[in-house]
Amino acid sequence: MTVAAIQLVDVHKSYGRVPVLNGIDLTVAPHEVIGLIGPSGSGKSTLLRCINLLEPVRSGRVIVYGDDLTAPGVDADAVRQRIGIVFQSFNLFPHLSVLGNVTLAPTRVQGIARSAAETSGREMLDRFGLGDKAADYPDRLSGGQQQRVAIVRALMMKPEIMLFDEVTSALDPELVGEVLAAIKELAGSGMTMVLATHEMGFCREVATRVAFLKDGRICEEGPPAQMFAAPTHPDTQQFLRRVIEAGRL
Ligand code: ADP
Ligand code: MG
Repeated sequence: MTVAAIQLVDVHKSYGRVPVLNGIDLTVAPHEVIGLIGPSGSGKSTLLRCINLLEPVRSGRVIVYGDDLTAPGVDADAVRQRIGIVFQSFNLFPHLSVLGNVTLAPTRVQGIARSAAETSGREMLDRFGLGDKAADYPDRLSGGQQQRVAIVRALMMKPEIMLFDEVTSALDPELVGEVLAAIKELAGSGMTMVLATHEMGFCREVATRVAFLKDGRICEEGPPAQMFAAPTHPDTQQFLRRVIEAGRL
């Protein structure tokens, strides 16, 4: 049996006294792409943030390739190098070039020599169609290009797992496709990923498994064909009906 890439065991999380995650169990095999769907406020972002320890869990376990990240004394910075995350907002450093942005963490955090980091940075930018942008500053780039730079920046740490939190939500509609294409390329390369998304069509296409979250619980999970065509839980059915009514699927 291969070891799971991610294993969440009865994960609970509250903000103050407000419970946000109420016992999440989820096992992600290597190379799987999990699509997290669910209404706003259901806990998708919190779940992603708990996986790479941006937020501490209240109880339960987060195990990555057999390592219990929730064990006492775990180095959260080391964990974050293993698990990349990309958000809706790109947060590139405006005073650094594209190449400067993507080489910052490898040189500062991982101690990689600048020349080596720049070589792999240029290769990675090329891979995502940004080869000619290396010297540009972020404000010269479109939102779609900036988001692809943010993805490259995360990949530069050579993560074992990538998390995506609504990465196309802030983009103009015509720029969504190029970012989804980048994620799809990454999925094709075998990257293990968990993505929270409102892009239901994309989720159906790229996810190997879909989990529907509501009130901090996974109500239902299954293969995308089943989840989108024949969901069994009434809450999933209602959510998807609304998505379809809104023309989002
Ligand atoms: P989703 O990503 O599915 O929209 P979130 O994980 O962002 O859901 O939020 C789940 C719940 O947790 C919401 O009720 C939200 O208001 C609350 N929440 C999220 N972040 C915080 C925070 N930093 N402090 C307090 N409450 C928060
Ligand atoms: Mg969210």
